[in-house]
Amino acid sequence: MKRTVANVTIECVEGDITDQQGFDAVANAANAQLRPGGGVAGAIHSAAGPELDRACRPLAPIGPGEAVITPAFNLPNKHVLHCLGPVYGRDEPSAELLASCYRAALELADENELESVAFPSISTGVFGYPLAAAARVALKAAAETAPRLRHVRLIRFVLWGRDALGAHERALEALSP
Ligand code: ADP
Repeated sequence: MKRTVANVTIECVEGDITDQQGFDAVANAANAQLRPGGGVAGAIHSAAGPELDRACRPLAPIGPGEAVITPAFNLPNKHVLHCLGPVYGRDEPSAELLASCYRAALELADENELESVAFPSISTGVFGYPLAAAARVALKAAAETAPRLRHVRLIRFVLWGRDALGAHERALEALSP
């Protein structure tokens, strides 16, 4: 499912964030120390190889709502945008911090003249953010940032499983035209 907002296509697909051929950047649901860990971060670091961990070290730590960029090494992409989402119930205001992750990552991609960015559903794993609420924040942040982007033309949400896909499709559909 896809929609176009201010010349930027926003789409939702089911899949694996480490398997996004042709995308200039993929986002990582990072931890503050930018270390491998589990979930998305574990998958991204193991697919990218140990050079990614070395590239991350001088950039850590980052705070909730922030994003940093590195090369993507063995991933089929040029860059990784490492985003730290809020831990639900701890980092407040959670919706604002989650929106800030997406905005910061998209602005960083745009500054680096990237055209396509794929995101996982940040904060909805170990960080415990409820899926439907996180999906609404994510899609709204992407749509609100779209008019300011000069290079990014494709934003893809890569969802792990049917429930996550459904929640994001409903949020995409609910965006005002
Ligand atoms: P966070 O710590 O920000 O909550 P997680 O990595 O624990 O991040 O999970 C974020 C979301 O990504 C969860 O909804 C999880 O189901 C999903 N996910 C896990 N592995 C992958 C993957 N390989 N590709 C895309 N999404 C994934």
